[in-house]
Amino acid sequence: MCVEVAADDGTRVLLDLGMPLYDANHNDYPFGTPQRPTAELLASGVLCDIPGLYASDQTAPNYAAIVVTHSHLDHYGLAHHAHSAVPVYASRGTLAIFEVSKIFFPSAVLPADVRLLPDDESLRFGALTVTGIPVDHSAPDARALLVEGDGQKLIYSGDLRAHGRTGFRFEKLLADQRLRGADWLLLESTTLGAGGDSHGLRSEQEVEEALVALATGGPDKAVVVVASGQNLDRLVSCYRAAKRTGRKLVVDPYQAFVLQKLAPLSENIPQFTWDDVRVSFTHHQVEKLKAAGLMELAHEMGRAARVSTYALGAHAGSYLLCARGSWRTTQLLNRIGAANAELVWSMWGGYWNRDNCAVRIWAERAGVQAHFIHSGGHAWPADLERLMEALSARETIWVHTDRSADADDSEGQTALP
Ligand SMILES: [Zn+2]
Repeated sequence: MCVEVAADDGTRVLLDLGMPLYDANHNDYPFGTPQRPTAELLASGVLCDIPGLYASDQTAPNYAAIVVTHSHLDHYGLAHHAHSAVPVYASRGTLAIFEVSKIFFPSAVLPADVRLLPDDESLRFGALTVTGIPVDHSAPDARALLVEGDGQKLIYSGDLRAHGRTGFRFEKLLADQRLRGADWLLLESTTLGAGGDSHGLRSEQEVEEALVALATGGPDKAVVVVASGQNLDRLVSCYRAAKRTGRKLVVDPYQAFVLQKLAPLSENIPQFTWDDVRVSFTHHQVEKLKAAGLMELAHEMGRAARVSTYALGAHAGSYLLCARGSWRTTQLLNRIGAANAELVWSMWGGYWNRDNCAVRIWAERAGVQAHFIHSGGHAWPADLERLMEALSARETIWVHTDRSADADDSEGQTALP
């Protein structure tokens, strides 16, 4: 996603500058594409040709700022190609995720000059005013953006939904007087295609209930939930399901660090210092903390919450683990023992079907049937309709979808993650 807003006084602001989800043929881009040189990405059309935006332009930058809605790659993943004199603004939670990514993913592509998009005041750039409005999404602390200028008003929804743990934010949007009388509403519409069903269960609460049912049904087995380490709602659902079934939540140091950095957002975010949270260490993650000068934090995690893989296997039924979709998770599953684990795929189903999905390949070899327990980050069509009606902007423009504008309801479209 990338939206440009310009005012009559020449002020220009970008809302998001994301990495496209796939190419014109619906194929994934090769791993490492965002890290390719700017000129190469411009030539291949991955980057839009936007004069005055890139460092390679040789001219003074023509943009006052890039305001990022949330920490998903398709919204910020190309922002580092912009001229370093163009500041990038994001919410506190998004900045926290950037900080963690910098430590754990050395190849992460992050803008150099990131600044806080404040919660309680608008940003002013020439004739344009940008206000961040908190929304519910699978990335923590996501924002919709209200842009005002030249007597006009534009709302960009970013990615949002009504069915997560902060669904109340969606209901607040419906009643937000600041958003009334907009000229344009750019509304994400990921689920509008026929593939909308691929976004799983109807709500995050249903995810929690399904995990509780699974953890109750297989009392002697560890429940291993493979999810995005940055999906805060899912980590909380795992914690709640663990607690309700008398288990300990097990996270890795990366997830423990994410939870610690996001702690200021809510007192309900589980922390490794809590009695019912454990940390399973992997050597490479400790090395990353060490390289970042955070060895004391690693020691602190170890003292407060360390659990050995031996203990995970020996007392499998005492734990609900949150893991990630990498080959390292398959090592962990081997240590616990395939017969001692209920495997849960808790991400978009499309990722499971990818050729290089290490967890699927492991499950097929081990003869393990995975449970699919997930709810997507995007609003259901009925909620989009509610939002559109409540805001009644002069014009609504559907974005973040591959459903064509003239598609009728019977036409199949491919889902977005
Ligand atoms: Zn998103």
